[in-house]
Amino acid sequence: IPALTQFGEQMSHLTGVRAIMKDIIETLRAGQGKEFINLSAGNPVILPEVEQLWRDCTADLLASHEYGEVVCRYGSSQGYRPLIDAVINDFNQRYGLNLSDRNILITPGSQALYFYAANALGGYTTEGHLKQIVLPLSPDYTGYGGVTLYPEALRAYKPTLDLGFEPHRFKYRPDFSQLEITEQTGFVLFSRPCNPTGNVLTNEEVQKIAALATPHNIPVLIDSAYAPPFPALNFTEMAPLFGSNLVHCMSLSKAGLPGERIGIALGDERIIQILQSFQTNLCIHSSRYGQAIAARAIASGALANISETVIRPHYQHKFAILEETLDQTMPQSAPWFLHRGEGAIFAWLWFKDLPVTDWQFYQELKQYGVIVVPGSPFFPGLREEWPHMHQCIRISLTAADSEIVTALRHLANLVDRLYTQT
Ligand code: PLP
Repeated sequence: IPALTQFGEQMSHLTGVRAIMKDIIETLRAGQGKEFINLSAGNPVILPEVEQLWRDCTADLLASHEYGEVVCRYGSSQGYRPLIDAVINDFNQRYGLNLSDRNILITPGSQALYFYAANALGGYTTEGHLKQIVLPLSPDYTGYGGVTLYPEALRAYKPTLDLGFEPHRFKYRPDFSQLEITEQTGFVLFSRPCNPTGNVLTNEEVQKIAALATPHNIPVLIDSAYAPPFPALNFTEMAPLFGSNLVHCMSLSKAGLPGERIGIALGDERIIQILQSFQTNLCIHSSRYGQAIAARAIASGALANISETVIRPHYQHKFAILEETLDQTMPQSAPWFLHRGEGAIFAWLWFKDLPVTDWQFYQELKQYGVIVVPGSPFFPGLREEWPHMHQCIRISLTAADSEIVTALRHLANLVDRLYTQT
């Protein structure tokens, strides 16, 4: 193999959950005949109504004169015009905004968007100062760990834990007594609803973060991969927030289109312009086929509608099953805590004073035929040692009801064994 550059070295590491996925794939392969219940999936479920929507949009595109224009031509880096118009019109109408086509960028998936931001706004300035990427509430999306060419730029903050509002439940909150957003901050980034925890930062919390960033002109990117209007995977009331330094970042992946790679950024035109130039240099533009079918689904209102009537209820139901099963099967005396399920497609469990690490817990649970994701990769950018980091797991809500119930019974047995016998 050739000698790698610093960036080559950096980018050849598998970060976070990608590294664990390798172990999971090998486990499933080596299992040979052993049936595993896989609660690790990050892939959304293929819901028939959602698949049909994308099929119908494709049929419509195929039948139109537009087809050749869409797939046989390059287009503008900013995005395909009908999609830009559909999103802008939808948001202006729905939220009473005044966005123009200068406020939007379409990217090949939202992960790409965070990569652009991480390296255009984070890292070393021309004067050699390090601009930090601030994650105000750790844990957060594991993919943030891989987006910067300078890992030292990533700076995450421990949250405070809200406990006691209900037995065996908890909620993370930003710790404003610790959080630092200064002229050394390049930008701020968090997911809302949050992968992995299902947390939704309150309007006040978001506004407080934005207010800390405003005096220094620091962009705040709100990763809205699970937010309304699509895929609308919020189980509590929430609306997108807009403001001079807020960038609302969307993804169509959880609305049934992960394969087509569509991310959308909405924000101040100066920030959009920076991200757009980065994109032109990197990959020219996102798939136009995906953009053309997305334009149809958004302009007709079908995507927002199906998000509310099909996608959200599906996962909300799964969370209800999970919550009920945990309450029925988990040992009441053990200090387990389920994060409040306010959105996304995961449940997050914390085992206080867990006698083993999250990695060992994951390995032990595999012996019961259940695969979850250990929690420690979800703390990218957190430097200090914090036992809590090794006491959590993420459970995907993508399995069948009966699988969730069976898997949680096994989990309850393991928890009982670990706390009573160790
Ligand atoms: N942000 C969050 C919070 C996610 O959960 C994901 C995917 O799981 C992404 C971003 C990346 O999504 P995509 O690049 O498919 O838009």
